[in-house]
Amino acid sequence: MFLRGSKKRRSNRSQEEEDPDRGQPCMRCGDQCPGFRVHGWRKICVHCKCVREEHAVRPVPGQLEKMMTKLVSDFQRHSISDDDSGCASEEYAWVPPGLKPEQVYQYFSCLPEDRVPYVNSPGERYRIKQLLHQLPAHDSEPQYCNSLDEEEKKELRLFSQQRKRENLGRGVVRLFPVTMTGAICQQCGRQICGGDIAVFASRAGHGSCWHPQCFQCASCSELLVDLIYFYQDGQIYCGRHHAERLKPRCQACDEIILADECTEAEGRYWHMKHFCCFECEAALGGQRYIMRESRPYCCSCYESLYAEYCDTCGEHIGIDQGQMTYDGQHWHAVDSCFCCARCQLPLLGRPFLPRRGLIFCSRSCSLGEDPNNSDSCDSALQSRSPHHNRRYGTAEKHHKLQCGSPLHNQRTDPVTLHPPSESQSAAATLWTRMRMKMRMRRGCKRVRKTRRMKMRAREVSEAGYI
Ligand SMILES: [Zn+2]
Ligand SMILES: [Zn+2]
Ligand SMILES: [Zn+2]
Ligand SMILES: [Zn+2]
Ligand SMILES: [Zn+2]
Ligand SMILES: [Zn+2]
Ligand SMILES: [Zn+2]
Ligand SMILES: [Zn+2]
Repeated sequence: MFLRGSKKRRSNRSQEEEDPDRGQPCMRCGDQCPGFRVHGWRKICVHCKCVREEHAVRPVPGQLEKMMTKLVSDFQRHSISDDDSGCASEEYAWVPPGLKPEQVYQYFSCLPEDRVPYVNSPGERYRIKQLLHQLPAHDSEPQYCNSLDEEEKKELRLFSQQRKRENLGRGVVRLFPVTMTGAICQQCGRQICGGDIAVFASRAGHGSCWHPQCFQCASCSELLVDLIYFYQDGQIYCGRHHAERLKPRCQACDEIILADECTEAEGRYWHMKHFCCFECEAALGGQRYIMRESRPYCCSCYESLYAEYCDTCGEHIGIDQGQMTYDGQHWHAVDSCFCCARCQLPLLGRPFLPRRGLIFCSRSCSLGEDPNNSDSCDSALQSRSPHHNRRYGTAEKHHKLQCGSPLHNQRTDPVTLHPPSESQSAAATLWTRMRMKMRMRRGCKRVRKTRRMKMRAREVSEAGYI
């Protein structure tokens, strides 16, 4: 059914009000977040910007439960195994099906304690979080997506059905028969002996088995939640990472990209219209942007949120300027700012000695010795810095600009250098080489054509995602 704009907005709003996770506290942010409220299309909390699964601490929300039941029943229809879904017990929120109580205990004893889904435990919260994360509802059900057109809805259904038919499976937990010589775990390569408990995945071949703690996604290395895996090219994946092997995922809305075109930047993908500033949502297509933690920002938002100040001159470091960063300190990447605190020798591309928040060219400078009368300036260090020539030149020009930097008076008042108390040998080990970091990225955004998904998985994987 087609919805007109106003109707659709209304339905979104009521969906938001009915959201079962609304108001849930954030496990990561604690008191900092007043409670989950979903962003219009990003699938994150508008308050703390964390994902839903960081907030969902209640028992499996109704909607998710429905989705899981559907996934599992779909799986059974396509499955060649004799498995049924895991049934909860009084003690556990979920147990692998078909096991005797002592085998359930044996299975869970292989897992880290905080991954065991005891009712009302961190392990149960971990399970819910992983259900939401590993099996995103919007990877299979168009109703959880933001704005698919009819063709894309059809394509998503096909994509999902095909993955269920060809890749989806659920691991089966069994005791390895004592009579047999044992097998090799597909993950760690170590022995699984007769009498051990093991996970079997029929998609991977009947002899393939894993230690319970080794049955994990090849991409994210998380334990596969409720033993649900997707098998592809000899590896097992969680649903999220299997989908990403076939199709790009939008970094902003977290949905699989079904459109013909998308934006690619630094190895990640966005819907064309979702490549926008994480703060103000200004469109960034064809614009300059700065990436921080895989999120693009417009220049002005970035500057107002994350401006750094130069430790030498005290001036703001503009986004177009090179920046040196070391141990929480920042400098302009110019000779006049990134230089020895005592002799002003430029240190760009050279080893330097950090000490008490200042940087030095040599141990003697760091000790406050007069660089003019020690031609040795550390013979031991000279060899490590063969182009060590002293130029005092124009460094001071910049220092006049700002007060408050630790270097301001250093030429006239060497006492401020605080002679070091550590032994000289310890000082020598502090030599560090810095690399210049340019924060500004330009021109690396480009549009990538995604091809329409074909019916066969083979063709899809050959379509060249990543
Ligand atoms: Zn949070
Ligand atoms: Zn939040
Ligand atoms: Zn193993
Ligand atoms: Zn994964
Ligand atoms: Zn998107
Ligand atoms: Zn912005
Ligand atoms: Zn500076
Ligand atoms: Zn020096």
